[in-house]
Amino acid sequence: MAGNDMITAAQDAGRRLLTEVESKQLLSEAGIPTTSALLATSREEAIRLSSQIGFPAVLKIASTNIAHKSDVGGVNLNLSNEDDVGRAFDEMMDAVSTGSPGAEIQGVSVQAMARPGIELVMGMSKDPQFGPVIMFGLGGVLVEVLKDVAFRIVPLTPRDAAEMIREIKGFPVLDGYRGQESVDIAALEQGLLQLSRFVDERPTIKELDLNPVFAYSDGLTVVDARIVLEDA
Ligand code: ADP
Ligand code: MG
Repeated sequence: MAGNDMITAAQDAGRRLLTEVESKQLLSEAGIPTTSALLATSREEAIRLSSQIGFPAVLKIASTNIAHKSDVGGVNLNLSNEDDVGRAFDEMMDAVSTGSPGAEIQGVSVQAMARPGIELVMGMSKDPQFGPVIMFGLGGVLVEVLKDVAFRIVPLTPRDAAEMIREIKGFPVLDGYRGQESVDIAALEQGLLQLSRFVDERPTIKELDLNPVFAYSDGLTVVDARIVLEDA
């Protein structure tokens, strides 16, 4: 199903949370790089899709009721062969039925293991006064504990994108701290502008959370994505 029809279908079904698979499909159709994710609805299919994608593979729970997958044992990284994938599938189903009883499970998302990068977050939320705003920050502890994030109102200008990256306190981490290679700042600017356009063109998106995005010396990739829709 093409992206925008997917939003309508989800809303018609009374759903507000798109799965990671759906969210990434929408983003990649809009030209934003993601670790592509395929939905498997059985153990056998998870094994088949992982050998198709190639190892190491990642399995994640796909559910429209589960927003934070690793909290309920719903993320299994670095699976090196078909046996690992089968075992991870069984473990995940057990863990999720304990950790999130009653959740409606669509299946598992099968994806390639992304090469390590610097973890960032990008997101959109709607401010009662300013409407959609884009958020940018460094991932993990830095965003959760230190709230080291920058915001700009949609639509972003190229100057907004350039400024918000440079104004976070963690900017030196991106800009070649202590002889580390600098990340591709131009790709981050482009990513923020793409994201601004993406949400601007889709007003039924209420909230969007890309956490993490991996930044590299060449480009970036969205590793996890969550889209929340407005009530229909
Ligand atoms: P959650 O719903 O808990 O946020 P994530 O999809 O963000 O789940 O996965 C948790 C963590 O696992 C991520 O922060 C990232 O570090 C790692 N991870 C997830 N998917 C991949 C992937 N495809 N490649 C490499 N690392 C990944
Ligand atoms: Mg995440």
